[in-house]
Amino acid sequence: MSHGTDSACFKPQAKPLPDPIGDTRARMQRTGQWQPQQMAGRRWAVACVCLEITQRCNLDCTLCYLSENSEAVRDLPLEEIFRRIDMIVRYYGPGTDVQVSGGEPTLRRRDEVVAIVRRLAARGLRASLFTNGIRATRDLLVELADAGLTDVAFHVDTTQQRVGHHNETDLNALRREYIERARGLPISVFFNTTVHAGNLEDVPMLAAFFVSQADVVRLASFQLQADTGRGVLGARVESISNDSVAKRLQQGACSSLNFNVLTAGHRDCNRSADRSTHLASSRQ
Ligand code: SF4
Repeated sequence: MSHGTDSACFKPQAKPLPDPIGDTRARMQRTGQWQPQQMAGRRWAVACVCLEITQRCNLDCTLCYLSENSEAVRDLPLEEIFRRIDMIVRYYGPGTDVQVSGGEPTLRRRDEVVAIVRRLAARGLRASLFTNGIRATRDLLVELADAGLTDVAFHVDTTQQRVGHHNETDLNALRREYIERARGLPISVFFNTTVHAGNLEDVPMLAAFFVSQADVVRLASFQLQADTGRGVLGARVESISNDSVAKRLQQGACSSLNFNVLTAGHRDCNRSADRSTHLASSRQ
């Protein structure tokens, strides 16, 4: 959370706080973000923590948040990852959602990815695998679920320039394949989609697709193009906004979406909508 006055902004503390959730609640109150549906400061001390276990990736998205030099960065040793996991528990407490991310986390050795998820679960943290899915086989997902994985979030969209998939409709075949890999496992299944000028008009179709897959897909997250990292597309056009994406989600879902069920952090940064069996969210 980087909004509000300087004095109200989050700053890493020298020492863990005795009551991290209470501290977040106090900050939400000071910055006018406290509402009955606000989860930050109620369920979480922090909406989530991103644990980047490698900077390498097997894709080169046109909107990638990594730096130009990421492929040259060596993976942190497992001991350092474990030290960071222990730090997350100390600062934010058990129950915190941790995105096991990268780069592409499955590029690390399989036994290390499993050990990381096992360590997170042993510390009472909720581990999500954030993956482009290429190496997230059924077999790996079974092993990770057994190690304590809570969710898998598949990132699939046209920024990835996947061979043989020319548009978002083509990519639905791949999304279906990933859904089948996770079907029946004791983990929640999420999908991440980056919204850019080339797929803004596909958002209603994507919303309809995710609704049709709601027996497995629990959350569909739409993340608005941002001018950050090594991605070549740059800043988003004006037509892409939380409002314009919400309108298209509404069209595709073919029912009224309630965008005020939950709030996670600052209201200008993200919003979530409930459609009885699953959530859709947009984030900028
Ligand atoms: S956005 Fe994710 S999948 Fe795409 S290149 Fe970057 S790390 Fe890889």
